[in-house]
Amino acid sequence: MTALPPLPYDTPADEHDLAVMRQQLGRDMRGVVSIARRCGCGRPAVVRTAPRLEDGTPFPTSFYLTLPWLTLVLSRLEATGAMAELTDRLSGEEGLAAGYRRAHERYLARRAEIGEAEEVRHVSAGGMPTRVKCLHALAGQALAEGPGVNPVADRVLAGLDGVIPELVCRCESAEAGAGPDPEARGEGEAR
Ligand SMILES: [Zn+2]
Repeated sequence: MTALPPLPYDTPADEHDLAVMRQQLGRDMRGVVSIARRCGCGRPAVVRTAPRLEDGTPFPTSFYLTLPWLTLVLSRLEATGAMAELTDRLSGEEGLAAGYRRAHERYLARRAEIGEAEEVRHVSAGGMPTRVKCLHALAGQALAEGPGVNPVADRVLAGLDGVIPELVCRCESAEAGAGPDPEARGEGEAR
């Protein structure tokens, strides 16, 4: 196998990152290999994740989106039916479909760099190679790899404010208005 170019934004994860992710997710992030992409403020945005977690569970989502504000933006987009629309476009646009299949192969090749799990050997993420099932997983790959690797995710991200080419931090507004933890949200309102 030809070696892939290094992930352009990849940095080590330290104890502080683990603490921030715990805050972002409301639980410990498992299987952390490195931080594949950061928010403009430096907080983890996409975590490179081991194909097998500490407890032995195979874990196909090798690029896991943890950034609350972007997670929310993508969830809202999913709620509008964006996935069905994009899946339809895959059957209509040959070039897009071919690029999406290459993104699937790239996903598996990236995973092979850090290990393997037989159960998910041919499974990438987000519905690849033929369907669009999770924008968060696809965005994770596109943010980690940079533009030109996942054409479907590139289209999605290009339609969002302040995501391409750099992630402009919106962490504070997410905490104030729509954080993942209802208790934390209550505190925000009380201030
Ligand atoms: Zn931020």
